[in-house]
Amino acid sequence: MRDATRIIRSTLTPTVAGEPLHSGPVFAAPFHTPGDPANTPYSYARSHNPTWTALEEAIAQMESGPGYRASALVFASGMAACAAVFGAVLRPGDIAVLPSNAYYAARVLMQEYFVKMGVTLRTAPTAANAQAAVLEGARLLWIESPSNPTMEVADIAALSEAAHRAGALVAVDNTTPTPLGQRPLALGADFSVASDTKSMTGHSDLLLGHVAVRDLELRAKIDQWRTLTGAALGPMEAWLALRSIATLPLRLERSCENAQRIAEFLTTRSEVSSVLYPSLPTHPGHAIAKKQMRYFGPVLSFILRDRTAAETFLAKSALLTEATSFGGITTTAERRARWGGDAIPEGFIRMSAGCEAVEDLIEDLAQALDATR
Ligand code: PLP
Repeated sequence: MRDATRIIRSTLTPTVAGEPLHSGPVFAAPFHTPGDPANTPYSYARSHNPTWTALEEAIAQMESGPGYRASALVFASGMAACAAVFGAVLRPGDIAVLPSNAYYAARVLMQEYFVKMGVTLRTAPTAANAQAAVLEGARLLWIESPSNPTMEVADIAALSEAAHRAGALVAVDNTTPTPLGQRPLALGADFSVASDTKSMTGHSDLLLGHVAVRDLELRAKIDQWRTLTGAALGPMEAWLALRSIATLPLRLERSCENAQRIAEFLTTRSEVSSVLYPSLPTHPGHAIAKKQMRYFGPVLSFILRDRTAAETFLAKSALLTEATSFGGITTTAERRARWGGDAIPEGFIRMSAGCEAVEDLIEDLAQALDATR
């Protein structure tokens, strides 16, 4: 089956005459568990919940690829999913290799907690597979491609191979493209990690994440971490997520098409000094992105003259909602340097293309850029 059919079917409850197509969320803390708990599928909601199971099955189908069947675990947020991989894999004395431009909170979590508990951190940029040079003796390689917010691209298959040769496990933060846009497990990674707060659920109203694996021993470790730390997703969120991912193929196709058209438009404007989007042939990671991605993602970044130009642009736009995060049906943008923590210029804008009519967006962007002159 093609993606759209498979994903829509994966969100349906098995059909029973007279029952709804989507059964509702299951709200429970304990489940009735007589005698040996091994005899009941569910016992206590911090460990498992039937609504999680339905969502995990749908995500696992998206993460699966030729010759392997993925298994997915859902978490209360994308950061809870990142923390689960760090916590399940790393022990004092281990070496972790992170991209120097990885998502800010993942870097801070590593630095402030894991490094202080005895993990050695090595960093190198995402671009040009620079992480390959610092893998010796590593236990975990963390990849983020495209990276947020600078949109650098790494060759996941080549890095995974090099990491495995060095004895390291490989995790990819796949938030920006979603498993429909890029399948890290098919490219050789051991963990596909994502914030499903973004495109996966796509309506800017949910916080959740997941970890997908092929190996059942790794699954057990991640599962244990989730149960012991209580990084549990609420059943209502799980149910809303299941409902939302049925439209992922539609939303991703439209938003990536819009991102492409916007990126091309921005390259024609003199106010914009640089457009960072991997589908552009001028992007340094274009050839690799084309090889490993099925969609280039809804996020693009670009650079305006300075802070004033960026603030004027955002204030004058009528259709860009100024907000952090990305992947929603609404087009959003922000001056990213307002947060600090990333090595980017003051005029750096990160934009997330939504699903509006692209002609309206481009007309609006044109007038907002005019106002920065
Ligand atoms: N990874 C990336 C690339 C992100 O952009 C984010 C959030 O912005 C996260 C992880 C963390 O996700 P969450 O905010 O759902 O915890």
